[in-house]
Amino acid sequence: MRFIFLTLVLIQSLFALNYEISSSKIANGKTALLQFKHNINKVYEDVELFDRKFKVFDNRVLLPISYYEKPKKIIATVHYRDYGKEKVQKINLEVVDGGYAQEKIQVQKSKVKLSKKDKKRAAKEYKEANEIYTTISKKNYLKSKFIMPLNSKITSSFGKARVYNHTLNGYHSGTDFRAKVGTPLVACNNGVVVLVKDRFYSGGSVIIDHGQGVYSCYYHMSKFDVKVGEHVKKNQRIGLSGVSGRVTGPHLHFSARVGGIQVDPLQLINLLNKNILKD
Ligand SMILES: [Zn+2]
Repeated sequence: MRFIFLTLVLIQSLFALNYEISSSKIANGKTALLQFKHNINKVYEDVELFDRKFKVFDNRVLLPISYYEKPKKIIATVHYRDYGKEKVQKINLEVVDGGYAQEKIQVQKSKVKLSKKDKKRAAKEYKEANEIYTTISKKNYLKSKFIMPLNSKITSSFGKARVYNHTLNGYHSGTDFRAKVGTPLVACNNGVVVLVKDRFYSGGSVIIDHGQGVYSCYYHMSKFDVKVGEHVKKNQRIGLSGVSGRVTGPHLHFSARVGGIQVDPLQLINLLNKNILKD
């Protein structure tokens, strides 16, 4: 009996996928890296998570967890081909609480109310940005490790919950760096500039596509040194920091997207620098 059981386990493990995950417990707002072992007979296609599909590139896939996901057990479904035959394998994962701090803000309703014109503009800009983030370019522009867009102190980290008049009304969607107006900002890695624009909330904004669904964003800028469509190199100056958009003071708001989902930019950079990129 024991022998049969062991044999079954062995047979099962022969057919199971060989993979490695950075962590099976992922906090909301963070990203996990799933890497498959190269196998000449297997083609890894995509991984389904929360009704979204994340494409596998070079035998690996980034799995971003939205900030709004609650702690629970989840299943990632891997779609792959084995000798050309379509197969699936489920991987058990868990969303854990990111333990983000809360920022309680009391404001008069009239102060947060936007004019009809501003509302329309903000909605249009939101839609435009979403179209960018959900465009997944096949090319990978990343050739070496990420760097920070400037050398400065972090003044507000990703994920702080914003509770306006007792209701959760969003969260801090990026990392803020101290930067007086006119501080030079650089591209955190190689990529293609996909947006250069003055927007309602984020002010002077630059978005860089690093390929395969990874984007970095630089907000509240005062001057642009790049154009849409331009290929930028890591450490290339993209412009100057500022105080544009809806802000209370000058700083750089730096954020990142993976497969359309907003994630902690510094955790993503660490994950890629540690596991994939080399200098
Ligand atoms: Zn910010």
